[in-house]
Amino acid sequence: ESVGPTIVAGEILVEIMATEQGLGFLEPLVLMGPYPSGAPAIFIDQAARLGGGAGIVACVGRDDFGTINLQRLRRDGVDVSAVWVSDRYPTGSAFVRYRPDGGRDFVYNIAESAAGQIRLTAEARQLADRAGHLHVMGSTLSVSGLKEIVAYAVKAVRARGGSISFDPNVRKELIDGADGALFSALVDDADLLLPSGDELLAAAGVEDETQAVAALIARGVGEIVLKRGAAGSSRFAADGSRIDCAGFLVEEVDPTGAGDCFGATYLTCRRMGMEPGKALFYANAAGARNVTRRGPMEGIAGFDVLDGFIAGTARAT
Ligand code: ATP
Ligand code: MG
Repeated sequence: ESVGPTIVAGEILVEIMATEQGLGFLEPLVLMGPYPSGAPAIFIDQAARLGGGAGIVACVGRDDFGTINLQRLRRDGVDVSAVWVSDRYPTGSAFVRYRPDGGRDFVYNIAESAAGQIRLTAEARQLADRAGHLHVMGSTLSVSGLKEIVAYAVKAVRARGGSISFDPNVRKELIDGADGALFSALVDDADLLLPSGDELLAAAGVEDETQAVAALIARGVGEIVLKRGAAGSSRFAADGSRIDCAGFLVEEVDPTGAGDCFGATYLTCRRMGMEPGKALFYANAAGARNVTRRGPMEGIAGFDVLDGFIAGTARAT
């Protein structure tokens, strides 16, 4: 495993959420926020909180929404030297409302916000040149500048003997902007794939979990860690081994961010040399704890808090 921080590139957002369940935003609602957010930001903040080296390439506006994000990331130890502050564009945002069935509706302002302005700046190059691991997320691929950053960072990280992980999370609202060729190139490049539910099948292009795992391993993916929401997770490796981890029994207050907390915890534990089973267990704890707090980054926790959570929480059997 290569030394150097884990890095991500992509959207920093504020999240503003409806306090009541329902469908969409077609009537006046009580909203709560802003909360620091953006899948790459959640991921990298969790990595830093566990004590792993962590950095982000991103862009925020020169406004309060940008400030709350930068303060949070700095506080938790994320290298924000490659976060560009735009004088022209406001910080990106996501409005979210939870449906009664557990689904979510989003109104995003990403492409036309500061988040859409990310570029391969000199600072981004410098960060990538020092990195030991690159994590890429599907939610980010709709942003035009991302392609160049990912291409550069993949090369830089590989040149240093580093590794790459990919979370193929593409929200239905963003899928049109995603680039199919880039998506499948990233699946091919990934040492670690972190899909949730049907994303596994979509990434493999087949209809069944076992087949999908086999197909992805055959394409060179080293390990696949499948997120199953409240049901926990499974880890499949190229050697044919499989580990299942039951979910912790928690009251879900806000599911947003669980997948990113989970992924960052799994990856960071592995980069620290932890066995896959133990890393998966901590990842389950991090995902489960995160859903007990309102706000995508409010449930992020270090090992001390996770150990306390694990000791005090039952698991499904
Ligand atoms: P996101 O909703 O942020 O996109 P995701 O769909 O990628 O996340 P999930 O499967 O929802 O990922 O959550 C990731 C992990 O967090 C799960 O595998 C599980 O370990 C834990 N988790 C999520 N929701 C719950 C829950 N309600 N109860 C217990 N654990 C949970
Ligand atoms: Mg989920």
